[in-house]
Amino acid sequence: MRLKVQRSNFNWGPGLFILGYHLLLLIAIPLYLLHYTPSVGMLVLSAVLVYVTGMSVTAGYHRLYSHTTYKINPVVEAILLFFATMATQGSALRWSFDHRHHHAFVDTDRDPYSIKKGFWYAHFLWLFEKPKDIDPKVISDLMKKPLLRFQHKYYGLLMVVTNVIATLVIGYCFHDYLGAFLFAWFVRLFFLHHFTWFINSLAHTWGARHYCQELSAVDNYLISLVTFGEGYHNYHHTFAYDYRNGIRWYHFDPTKWLIWSLSKLGLAHKLRKNPQYFIEERLLVEKKNLVLGKIRLASGEYQKTWEEKIVTLTESAIEKIRQVKQLSELYQSLKKTKEEKKEKVQELYHQLQEAKKGLKEEVKHWRGIMETCTAALFHESAQSAPRKP
Ligand SMILES: [Zn+2]
Ligand SMILES: [Zn+2]
Repeated sequence: MRLKVQRSNFNWGPGLFILGYHLLLLIAIPLYLLHYTPSVGMLVLSAVLVYVTGMSVTAGYHRLYSHTTYKINPVVEAILLFFATMATQGSALRWSFDHRHHHAFVDTDRDPYSIKKGFWYAHFLWLFEKPKDIDPKVISDLMKKPLLRFQHKYYGLLMVVTNVIATLVIGYCFHDYLGAFLFAWFVRLFFLHHFTWFINSLAHTWGARHYCQELSAVDNYLISLVTFGEGYHNYHHTFAYDYRNGIRWYHFDPTKWLIWSLSKLGLAHKLRKNPQYFIEERLLVEKKNLVLGKIRLASGEYQKTWEEKIVTLTESAIEKIRQVKQLSELYQSLKKTKEEKKEKVQELYHQLQEAKKGLKEEVKHWRGIMETCTAALFHESAQSAPRKP
């Protein structure tokens, strides 16, 4: 684990700020609590502000600017930028530049917050190192935006002003400026920072790799609870152009819900989304590769038979996915052309429903076989007694 940051390479501004406010909280919070009791309303509002500023970063800096997964209304964009500035994570240009590098060179030395340099390095120690100069070519699309250039130029001042405004408003509402300074500014910042940093540390360490085994990024529902929906990080690194991170309806991804709600209100458009068939196919292929890798490591009697069975079943399931995709596309296009006979569209609809039912059965069978195979491999490695497929 790399915990040392060379003095000559120390990033003095952000470094001192981060260390300074952690120290401030350590000393000032117990002293404050000895003499005063913070109002519940102020604490609730501070917690709300964690979410508002955090989601401005995930919906704004991350999914809008770094990955351009959707387009947004300029007024909403300015509001997001206001709260993202308050989040104290650098300018949108700096953030997006680093993040685009993170995706392009993930898990290598060129990744600015590579998990390969250690958990704490990826979490926040990277911030103590002087950053690379911004290469305008990497963010040429964002450099065209005057608002982002302005925010970048005056970032330090704007960061202070936005936070002072929030502190004064909350302090005025609850007649407690000192409490607002500590809780609505710095305690809020403490939680917001560590929650965001979890994406680079925990979401590259603890969880499952459903979509790409080679990446350090993982999917973890629990991490998504504190990272404003960014916990489905293996999916995100595999399909970064999708405006969603949690793709199922039950996946906790408030940033996705925010963008979707904005689109329903006409305030966001051109939401980029991975086709469902594409995702399903990828899931099957990755799981197949994972199980085949385990089979090849095993030395059981039925190794070859398992291998053949899994390859055949996966190919058959993928074929069914493609059939459903074709039928669905045909059905959608026929539905649009009014000349087609109603009966033909109806017939196609029934064919599509049948194909979907068939696919569901096939995937269920495939899953069952995968589970049996995994259990057999486990049994084999534990007892050296191979089972017949
Ligand atoms: Zn990542
Ligand atoms: Zn990303």
